[in-house]
Amino acid sequence: MTFKLPKISFPFVKKAAKPVVFIHFLTEKETKDWLKKQDKTAQNQVKSAGFSGNKGETLILKDNKGQVDKILAGISEKPHYLESATAAQAIQKELSKDFISKHVFEVAKGPKTETLTKIAIGWGLAAYTFDQYKKNDRLIPVLLWPAKADEKEARATIEGICTIRNLINTPPNILGTDELARAAKDIAETHKAKFKVIKGEELKKQNFPMIYAVGQASPRKPQLVDIKWGKAKDPKVTIVGKGIIYDTGGLNLKPPQAMRDMKKDMGGAAHALGLASMIMALKLPVNLRVLLPIAENAVSGNSYRPGDVLTSRKGITVEIDDTDAEGRLVVADALTYASEDKPGLLIDYCTLTGAARVALGYDIPAFFSNNEDFIDDLRHLSLKQDDPVWPLPLWDGYEKEMDSNVADLINNGKGRAGAIHGGLFLQRFVDPSIDWIHLDCYAWEQNGKPGRPQGGADTGMRALFHFIKNRYS
Ligand SMILES: [Zn+2]
Repeated sequence: MTFKLPKISFPFVKKAAKPVVFIHFLTEKETKDWLKKQDKTAQNQVKSAGFSGNKGETLILKDNKGQVDKILAGISEKPHYLESATAAQAIQKELSKDFISKHVFEVAKGPKTETLTKIAIGWGLAAYTFDQYKKNDRLIPVLLWPAKADEKEARATIEGICTIRNLINTPPNILGTDELARAAKDIAETHKAKFKVIKGEELKKQNFPMIYAVGQASPRKPQLVDIKWGKAKDPKVTIVGKGIIYDTGGLNLKPPQAMRDMKKDMGGAAHALGLASMIMALKLPVNLRVLLPIAENAVSGNSYRPGDVLTSRKGITVEIDDTDAEGRLVVADALTYASEDKPGLLIDYCTLTGAARVALGYDIPAFFSNNEDFIDDLRHLSLKQDDPVWPLPLWDGYEKEMDSNVADLINNGKGRAGAIHGGLFLQRFVDPSIDWIHLDCYAWEQNGKPGRPQGGADTGMRALFHFIKNRYS
């Protein structure tokens, strides 16, 4: 196994060995004050360009010889962490490769630590590109590290987000079940965490029947990754991530458009690893465990079928209504296993239902919790972190829509509440005494935004990081 994730680029230097170009990050109000102190050449350029310091505006100012003098970048009073990415991208677009390669960019005096950290994060994320299989000659502008920015936080955030992007973007012929487990092992080793994997027939022997059943049709063996990190005395936090490396839908085969991006069906596992890498890098005082049920939902003579009845690890029997509702099966066994260890907080990330997208669109994961106090706390905090997640109810009135004539329940629901059925299904496998949060996320940036290219993307990772940090530090 030689699979390695691409290296994450950090476009920063600690010392400028080349001429420096200053970037003035200014709010609308600061722009007015700043402008008064400038000479006519600068004032005229700002006026004719209509630069007002609005977020997303960038202006390259020239001196009276026509040379690049400085850069203005509009920023909000409380900036979003991607705002600086707009400036980084404008530089790439408007300045020559020759100029970029011969200069270092520096944040001009003004912003405080919190803003500087966000500027660094946005700058780092703007440098991301997935060019393993398509060379590009893009030149990434290098920023002199803003001395007062929180380097640990910025690095851990960039690394967490880019890990998610790389894992999801890697094509499914390259990232199989072994390779995803291998990537998890590399991340564990980076942070000196314990790593274990249960694979293939061993899953049957150790009683993970639903993980095995979903993955049995693929030559790439299903597995369960188990990572442990932290001190035994600290509170136990367990993160589960759905790792379907490719989802054909199984015998209930998906139509072409719905199958097209199904390499992202391991996005839950990618989120679990991204969040874990942030927690470990920033050494949160928790006793962390990561469980990744990994399988390929493939079509073969031995695929599991609609009508099959599976007996789960918990002993609950499940009649298969739809082989495309495979994620909840593998995650259910992992949640049961996680519950046996009695964590203080149990989180799962799954790219689970199209219904969650109908409710909230691409950018906002739906979340569910059996702890009512979490509902408002997490929603508020996620908005503050510019990483919104939105609650949906675990409405027990819909439980009966998952009844089966021959088993305890079906792996689907009748009626329209698909995302809620997913949550209710998983809840059956969680010990009710454990605080649990389930995120139904998309894990994909549909349109592309500055600092957030189209493709694999984090949705709800930073929100949960801050939720855990607030709860335990
Ligand atoms: Zn599916």
